[in-house]
Amino acid sequence: MDEQGMVFDIQRYSVHDGPGIRTTVFLKGCNLRCFWCHNPESYHLGQDLMFYPNKCIGCGKCFTLCPLGLHSLAADGKHLIDRTKCTLCGACAKRCFAGALALSGKQRTVEDVMKTVRADALFYRNSGGGLTVSGGEPLLQPEFTGALLGAARQEGIHTALDTAANVPFARFEQVLPHVNLLLIDLKCMDSARHKEATGVGNALIIENLRRLGQGETPVWVRIPVIPGVNDSEANMAAAAALLQGLPAVQRLELLPYHSLGAGKHENLGRTYSAMELKAPPKERVAELAAVFAGARYEVRC
Ligand code: SF4
Ligand code: SF4
Repeated sequence: MDEQGMVFDIQRYSVHDGPGIRTTVFLKGCNLRCFWCHNPESYHLGQDLMFYPNKCIGCGKCFTLCPLGLHSLAADGKHLIDRTKCTLCGACAKRCFAGALALSGKQRTVEDVMKTVRADALFYRNSGGGLTVSGGEPLLQPEFTGALLGAARQEGIHTALDTAANVPFARFEQVLPHVNLLLIDLKCMDSARHKEATGVGNALIIENLRRLGQGETPVWVRIPVIPGVNDSEANMAAAAALLQGLPAVQRLELLPYHSLGAGKHENLGRTYSAMELKAPPKERVAELAAVFAGARYEVRC
């Protein structure tokens, strides 16, 4: 049977998730809660109701369509949704012709996703690109992730797995035969700070990174530079010390924080906790990259 997975987005012509031009498939489900997250619709393995106020034309159709009467207007005219009682039936989203309501997440088969992936095979060949499976945490759906990566590999398409690595190592063993490149996020070297910022400590992540870094699959490590969380020389020096002993690491990327995901938290009816964060200046990111000077792997920022 064709394996099915819960997918919330497929981005074609992506140039930030591995080498060359790629198609990035984003899977639902994540076991971290980074407060600056730019893909908050990935948190749950199931669907989510998104509301885009800027698209709403105020027709009021959803007020009558919802069988539970969960849409209402506040005294100030604000459109409210009682999400605590929402069954995600989709009735409101289906008939909102303005596109102001949508269910994020859809069960898709490997073959269905592969139709989109193989459409750009020529671009992959010419640019050294391929397929990246991302999330969320793709290893929360290991069967689907493995089957999708395996299908791409069978067709000669380069494969990358983008993971936060907070899963049992057995999940990696399930998919590694189908992976050409691992993209591993490393948020913060201090476990207590990591827990404050993401909801979990980093022990399992570091242990997985150590094991994978001594394996045969090439690894690119990606550190998001988050002001006040990990943007210190001490954090980068600790990361550099760890990576130096890991021969599979080929590249380190420092990815400066950006606020592009802020609106999505609101669309989900959540509060964005990183509202006060500012993108770090380029010069500061370059200073942090300099901590890795002399590394045997490539450093990019
Ligand atoms: S149906 Fe759509 S456009 Fe109409 S009020 Fe509801 S959300 Fe707004
Ligand atoms: S998804 Fe269903 S239950 Fe939820 S608000 Fe829309 S119509 Fe109501």
